[in-house]
Amino acid sequence: MARTFFVGGNFKANGSLKSIETIVSNLNAAKLDPNTEVVIAPPSIFLLSTAASASNGVKVSAQNVFDKPDGAWTGELTTKMLIDHNIEWVILGHSERRTIFKESSEFIAEKTKAALDAGLKVILCIGETLQEREAGQTLNVCCEQLKAVADKINDWSNVVIAYEPVWAIGTGKVATTEQAQEAHKGIRDWLASTVSSQAAEATRILYGGSVTEKNCKELATQPDIDGFLVGGASLKPAFVDIINSKL
Ligand code: PGA
Repeated sequence: MARTFFVGGNFKANGSLKSIETIVSNLNAAKLDPNTEVVIAPPSIFLLSTAASASNGVKVSAQNVFDKPDGAWTGELTTKMLIDHNIEWVILGHSERRTIFKESSEFIAEKTKAALDAGLKVILCIGETLQEREAGQTLNVCCEQLKAVADKINDWSNVVIAYEPVWAIGTGKVATTEQAQEAHKGIRDWLASTVSSQAAEATRILYGGSVTEKNCKELATQPDIDGFLVGGASLKPAFVDIINSKL
């Protein structure tokens, strides 16, 4: 089964009404590969304005969501609120959430379950630190992060996995094509042995970490790399070239 190529733009805590409008206008006017699914994730305060102006098949994602129903959770957004506003996607488990905001794999798994149960689609981020890679623990770390989720969900059809080595995020140090393919293959093998061969075959596994218009084409040739989650470069016009990696 062919997996639809997927490119996500994670704006993190960047942007203004004006700069995001420029990014969206640029995407709206661009010739985007019709065979690539494109999802952009602005900061939450810009979700609605972005969703209202994005066209050309570009969908919008939140960068986080809480796992509980509406209630006394100051500062949080609930799954119901995203659904209410037709926001289809949410990024969960980003390494910045895991490290800076101390989110555990269990909490991320709870949020993944809650998001899927509510009808959202999830970009689930995993990845190892440099220290873990150097200790030969890359796959163990990724699979432990995935296992926490697999313990709570059975249906992976609305999950896209983003493999993002922590040492490659925002550092300009991209994983080599071989390193990325090896990790993606390992993750796919884990899906086959732990979830199902069907999930392994169908689940998109994105690479994230210093993806640019210069390195995307080679990474995109790899059999287990089904797209990208792009941070810094998603704020620039060259994001279009990353979306069109397969052309
Ligand atoms: P980067 O970020 O492309 O700026 O390295 C990727 C991410 O954090 O998703």
